Amino acid sequence: MPRQLFVTTALPYANGKPHIGHIMEYIQADVWVRFQRLLGNAAHFVCAEDAHGAPIMIAAEKAGKTPQQFIGEMQAARQQYLDGFHIGFDHWHTTESPENVELSQSIYRALRANELIEIRTIEQFYDPVKGMFLPDRYIKGTCPKCGAKDQYGDNCEVCGTTYAPTDLKDPYSVLTGARPELRTSEHYFFRLSDARCVDFLKGWTAGRNRHGEPHLQPEVYAKTQEWLGEGGRGLADWDISRDAPYFGIPIPDTADKFFYVWLDAPIGYLASLKSYFDSGKALARGEGRSYEEFIGSPEVEQVHFIGKDIVYFHTLFWPAMLHFSGRKVPDNVFVHGFITVSGEKMSKSRGTGIDPLRYLQLGMNPEWFRYYVAAKLNAHVEDIDFNPDDFIARVNSDLVGKYVNIASRAASFLVRQFDGRLAASADPSGAPAGSLAVALASADDIAAYFEGREYGKALREIMRIADFANEHFDKHKPWELAKDPAQRELLHAVCSDVMRCFRALTIYLSPVLPVTAERVARELFGLQRPFTWADLRSPLESIAPYKHLMTRVEAKQLDALFEPPAAVEEKTMPGGQPVGETVTIDDFARLDLRVAKIVNAEAIEGSDKLLKLTLDAGEGRHRTVFAGIKSAYRPEALVGKLTVMVANLAPRKMKFGVSEGMVLAASHADEKKHPGIFLLEPHAGAQPGMRVK
Ligand SMILES: [Zn+2]
Repeated sequence: MPRQLFVTTALPYANGKPHIGHIMEYIQADVWVRFQRLLGNAAHFVCAEDAHGAPIMIAAEKAGKTPQQFIGEMQAARQQYLDGFHIGFDHWHTTESPENVELSQSIYRALRANELIEIRTIEQFYDPVKGMFLPDRYIKGTCPKCGAKDQYGDNCEVCGTTYAPTDLKDPYSVLTGARPELRTSEHYFFRLSDARCVDFLKGWTAGRNRHGEPHLQPEVYAKTQEWLGEGGRGLADWDISRDAPYFGIPIPDTADKFFYVWLDAPIGYLASLKSYFDSGKALARGEGRSYEEFIGSPEVEQVHFIGKDIVYFHTLFWPAMLHFSGRKVPDNVFVHGFITVSGEKMSKSRGTGIDPLRYLQLGMNPEWFRYYVAAKLNAHVEDIDFNPDDFIARVNSDLVGKYVNIASRAASFLVRQFDGRLAASADPSGAPAGSLAVALASADDIAAYFEGREYGKALREIMRIADFANEHFDKHKPWELAKDPAQRELLHAVCSDVMRCFRALTIYLSPVLPVTAERVARELFGLQRPFTWADLRSPLESIAPYKHLMTRVEAKQLDALFEPPAAVEEKTMPGGQPVGETVTIDDFARLDLRVAKIVNAEAIEGSDKLLKLTLDAGEGRHRTVFAGIKSAYRPEALVGKLTVMVANLAPRKMKFGVSEGMVLAASHADEKKHPGIFLLEPHAGAQPGMRVK
């Protein structure tokens, strides 16, 4: 029976662009899913935006957008990363969705019915200016231990002490600078310390899936036992509510309480799966059941790929929430480490050293990166390092020098000398010798490595076979055999064997190099479908001429990838010019910008550039301004619109009259190449005369 798998990666928080750590996780899961499908197993692979919480609410507000708009833009931007690195999610959803509201509320109701929800009054800092309770990271103050100023509410970055926000000296709100007040509020708690939860979690964390494999890696299991503590006494109840204003899902039967983002985020896995089923995409994959039937089936395996920073949520809260709401619990939570670049830890402020979008924009082959990351990954919670020199060496030596080389050399003999026909068997004696036999002998090991996420071991074994095939080929010196008609049969046999070995290597590599494998299947072997594991032993009688498969990576590409951000920014500066020199706020304040209404606009005889605008900036008089926007606007289209005017610009005598100000418009530095002039217009509600600052 084929396995039925429901696979997810962690939901990325929708307030930033994907970084290289996200891409690594997606590659790890994508390789696993593709491997399962290669075996003929059914895998449904989904993810979603993690959309809720105070940081997104605040970031959206700063950007002048609704949270929904803000998330929508993040979601749209994400697709180019996924497509770019060949990450084949079946569906990408968002936690800000009707499915997630329904599922979160129904899970909550079930937990409440199970008497696992408790209401308690807690004290929390409140920003009286902003009118909201403050999450810890929005409170700063002086460290109670070392006296360092401007430290966050949970720990001091100078001395490393952790504390509660109430311990800070001179606390202030990051949002408004106001001194926060301690206020009481009713919060909802999930009673994780309940004996039933403790018993369940002790069993689940130590448990095994239906294949006898542990739910958790040994080091993850050990960590959960630390958290559970002696007899489960280490578990604290979990605060799952936040007070309005909060961007989240309302808690049923409350007026102003919302689920803490971490409650509804993992439920987003189920919401995305439901949306995937409801959209008909599951049916298109051959899954005819409904979401409810599928997720309710005991044979369905639920597998989560996550990073080591979110283990607590996924191994304690999440299985407990699912179990006590009567749902399927995860079969596996696979945890990976972080990715470092040249040994340096990722830093939010300095970035990761690799911008995945820049990698793609430079035209670097995404399969190089997939291969390199896979070669480094194993089943343990270990950090992996991206080293540029190692990257160049591995890609060029393994992929180009070993793997692709086999096909390019053997194919030319087969096509030129034998019209693309392969010899009947791998060896003139009929024995299963040669490099194909070596490749097939490792099939079970390679499958076990992929299954166990030991990708590094799988790729080492694959490259060992590639080495063997190249040596086997060289040993027979086909270029000499080709000169001797008596050796024609041997030449045919050697090239055929090596070509069959190449097909096996391509099948093994197909989870890691999906695009190359698809091309090889179609272009070289004339296969109109993806490879399957069974193709390892299917007959191969002919090939088409070899087409170039993969170029070498060059050092200068890595140099460009690691160019300092400032240099990159200048080159890619939108609008075609770098940002001008820094000015002080006082410099800016000297400009008086005002909202102005265009009460009249007319063309000027004798000028093909200028329009004459009559502006009302609420001064009780009108101003005349000449603006070089005729190429972009018909005068009648502007009448009645609002724009922004520099109100304290010295009047300027022009050919057609005096201009008493200037309107603001945007254009590209190279207007010939990027034509267009765009007059600024304030959002609805602005009134003439309002100052812009
Ligand atoms: Zn300190």
